[in-house]
Amino acid sequence: MGYGHRPDSLHRLQRLVVACQAENNIPIVGREQVIIGREMHWLRIDRYYRGGIEAPDTCFQPMMCVHCENAPCELVCPVAATVHSHEGLNQMVYNRCVGTRYCSNNCPYKVRRFNFLNYDALFNYEGDNAASLKLLRNPDVTVRSRGVMEKCTYCIQRITAARIDAQKEDRPIRDGEVKTACQQACPVQAIVFGNLRDRHDASVLGSSSKRFALHSGCPSSIRMTTRASAWSAAAMRARPAANSR
Ligand code: SF4
Repeated sequence: MGYGHRPDSLHRLQRLVVACQAENNIPIVGREQVIIGREMHWLRIDRYYRGGIEAPDTCFQPMMCVHCENAPCELVCPVAATVHSHEGLNQMVYNRCVGTRYCSNNCPYKVRRFNFLNYDALFNYEGDNAASLKLLRNPDVTVRSRGVMEKCTYCIQRITAARIDAQKEDRPIRDGEVKTACQQACPVQAIVFGNLRDRHDASVLGSSSKRFALHSGCPSSIRMTTRASAWSAAAMRARPAANSR
């Protein structure tokens, strides 16, 4: 599986974060937890600046688990709670996780999130809307409990649903059949996802000369070592000539 995006085309990026949060039962941990470094969202939007302080140029980089082919997080888990699937996904086995957090320390992209508290139990289900609030969880996704590590799964529940449909019809999963929640929420289709062996945008992006993988310019060649499955396309921007004022 492969994932690609064009950061220059991604509009209203926070809607991607919210789509991921709603799809994957990611708890809202609250301001106090975030201030002490316990953010939970699986997809974060990094912001970079370039140029002078008067007129800085801003770029955004969506950041989630890149499902390394050679994942450093898998090597350090003493109970094999994070493992590699035959489709190239880096998976979490929640009920095997004992919460050492070694995987988070070893992830060079810093995308793993730890359940410091039992956030679901702390959620206030009281009041007029209590009955409907209990239905807000996605029934296809496990609600994680305290002491468990989690991170982006590339919406594995959607991949599994597509696989079951394909098996029933005795065919392979179609090119572009699986859409991740963030991909679906992006109004300008800047995100592509699919089998890198299909003739899909994901493979086109994966072989484009404008693509880059995070850390690819890093002197220690982390990208070369981890072999990320997610790619970004370089932004193309028209700039006014220096003397055109
Ligand atoms: S990005 Fe981090 S969490 Fe995801 S597979 Fe690579 S090392 Fe593991």
